[in-house]
Order: sequence, then C-alpha cells, then structure tokens
Amino acid sequence: MYRNFSVVPKVMFGRGCFNQLDEVLQERRGSNNSYMVFILDDVFQDRALENRIPLRDNDYLLHVNVDVEPKTSYIDELVGRINNFSPVLPDGIIGIGGGSTMDIAKAVSLMLTNEGSAADYQGWDLIKNPAVYHVGIPTLSGTGAEVSRTTVLTGPEKKLGINSDYTLFDQMILDPELLVGVPKDQWFYTGMDCYIHDVESLHGTYLNEFSRAYGEKSIDLCRQVFLEDHEEHDDKLMMASLFGGMSIAYSQVGACHALSYGLSFVLGTHHGIGCCITFDYLDEVYPTGVEEFRKMMEKHGIELPRNLTGNLSEQQFDTMVKVALGLAPLWENCFGKDWQKIMTYDRAMELYKRM
Ligand code: NAD
Ligand code: ZN
Repeated sequence: MYRNFSVVPKVMFGRGCFNQLDEVLQERRGSNNSYMVFILDDVFQDRALENRIPLRDNDYLLHVNVDVEPKTSYIDELVGRINNFSPVLPDGIIGIGGGSTMDIAKAVSLMLTNEGSAADYQGWDLIKNPAVYHVGIPTLSGTGAEVSRTTVLTGPEKKLGINSDYTLFDQMILDPELLVGVPKDQWFYTGMDCYIHDVESLHGTYLNEFSRAYGEKSIDLCRQVFLEDHEEHDDKLMMASLFGGMSIAYSQVGACHALSYGLSFVLGTHHGIGCCITFDYLDEVYPTGVEEFRKMMEKHGIELPRNLTGNLSEQQFDTMVKVALGLAPLWENCFGKDWQKIMTYDRAMELYKRM
C-alpha cells in the first residue's frame, strides 16, 4: 500500500521573512473579538524576537518551557489556559521555537478541537476533527518538525507522536535569521538529527526515489554546513531540515532513532543529543555515516557525554531494550523483514551497556 500523505501547503523562506508574519495572519483574522495565540519558547522572553511578534489587541502570548521535552499533561494544561483565556476558539496558533515548541503548537491546535487528553491520541490517525489553523516558525533547525505529520509527546504510558494529516502545519515561515544565537552544542545536536535522518533514510530498505531525492539533497547540505564554511550556513541548514523531514516522511528512520527512543524514555535524554550519543556506537550499522559524523564532531569541537548508562539497574536496561525493539518499522527499514534475527535483545542490550 502506498501512502497518500499531505504536505504543508504554504511555505515562506528567506532572511527577514518573519517580518511578513502579520500580513500572513491578516488573511486568517476574523471578527472583532477573534484572536491569535503565539506559542513562544521562553528562551526568547524579553529578547528582541519577542518584541517583533505582531501582537494585536486580543492576541494571547503564551511562553512555553522546553527544558523537558513536551508531555501530554503539559499540552492539556496549555489547552486549559487558552480555554480560560477565551470561550471562543482562536483564529490560529503560531509556534515559534525549536522542535519542542513546534510540536507543542501542533498538539495544542489539535487538542482545541478534539475532546479529552492529548494522551488519548498518541498513535496513528486517531484524531477526529481538523485542528485550528497553525503556523510553524523554527528557531532551531534539524528535527524536520516543521514539515512532519507528527507531534512527539511523552504520555503517562508511552513516548509516541500524534500522527495525522491534521497535525501538519498550515503554513511554515522559514527565516534563517532566527537561528542566530543558538548555543553551539545545541545547534550541532539538532543539526545532526537531520544528518542522521538522511543516513537512516538513504541506508534503509524502505528507500525509494522520492525519499532518495530529498535525502541526498539534505545530506549534501549537511556536509556543506558541518564540514565546510559558508556564510549562508543557516539558510542551508533550514533547507536540509525540511528536505530531511520530507525524506523520512516517505521512508522511515532507523536503528539510531529506535535506540535513542529507549534512552530518552528511561533517562529523559533530549532528542538531538540522544541521537548523537547513540549514533556514535553504530559503526557496524552505518559505517560511512558514523565516520563522517565523527569528522563533523571534530571540526566543531563537540564532546559527547559518556557512561550514561553506568548506574542503571537491569530492569531499566530491560525497559530501554523493550522500548527500542518495540519500534518494528524502524528496524525493518534498517535491516529488512528479518530484522529480529539481526538486532536481537542481547545485541541491543550490549549496545546500551556501552553507552
Ligand atoms: P528543542 O526545541 O527541544 O530546543 C532545545 C533548546 O534550544 C531549548 O533549550 C530551547 O529553548 C533552545 N533554543 C531553541 N531555539 C533557540 C534559539 N534560536 N536561540 C537559543 N536557544 C534556542 O530542540 P530541537 O532539537 O529543535 O527539538 C527536539 C524536540 O523535537 C524533541 O521534543 C523531539 O521529540 C522533537 N522532534 C519532533 C519531530 C517531529 O517530526 N515532530 C522530529 C524530531 C524531533
Ligand atoms: Zn530525529
């Protein structure tokens, strides 16, 4: 069965295009008492970007904290705050920040029109009603969250996205100037998320010309960003992220993402750094990718944390392995239909014990 997936219908790209946000939203603004909700990563509180948000009289500016990656309970709380703010639905939700903030904006826009808790919808195509109009504005590039049909959330029972066509943004605004000021380590980890998406997609058994076309361009841009020196590296990274997201949309990620989910579930490790830590142990699976990744680390003076799992109990290791091996499509993409013979429980355990 071929997937028939939707894509983000409107894209604006270019340095300074954030200044056109007001104009973009104008088309969506309704009558007198209607309003927009701007969801802003609180790292920008009292910073220049906050003052550039085109707030109108009734609009609501909601600061969100992403020190911990988004939880379903946090989404429920934010939806409650919007419902308390006004009895009518907003005209739009605008998420400004990295992958976490964009995911929060997607989830909030869905949960304003769907009953119950965000945890009820973790899975595939469980959403019943279309979301409120929502816009994604990345300030950190690599996750591909700006283009994906999921919002990754940690719920009481599982870390799993709300995957649906309604999850997709209606509009993205890609302004490379917004990447200025990202701490170097974070810039690298999130950028490597994109590089790893490309490696996993291009080395996967699900590969097809659609995914290859986007993946090859994305990995080429990543090489320019992380191995060469270009003035317009932020423009390139934004496009790499977008193309990497398109590549995995029609294929799948692989071993690194599966193992990083286990790590993140048990230790709360953030996505970008978790992928980097894991990838560094996957020489046997992605030899050329890992070799190039190490060159990128060296060029940027990145040191990864070691001995993360040294103090874990056997039960925690068991949970990690089970979470990772539960992600069957990722393993099948990596190793094919017989993946269970290749990535056994013991092999996954041995990899985690080395991390
Ligand atoms: P993030 O959004 O978690 O942000 C990381 C840190 O960078 C935060 O402290 C944030 O405040 C800060 N930051 C963001 N922009 C900044 C800027 N311009 N200047 C200074 N600091 C800035 O990081 P991320 O790596 O972009 O996103 C990771 C999240 O994305 C995870 O929650 C992961 O689950 C999710 N994710 C989603 C998808 C998807 O398709 N929906 C794909 C991959 C990852
Ligand atoms: Zn990723």
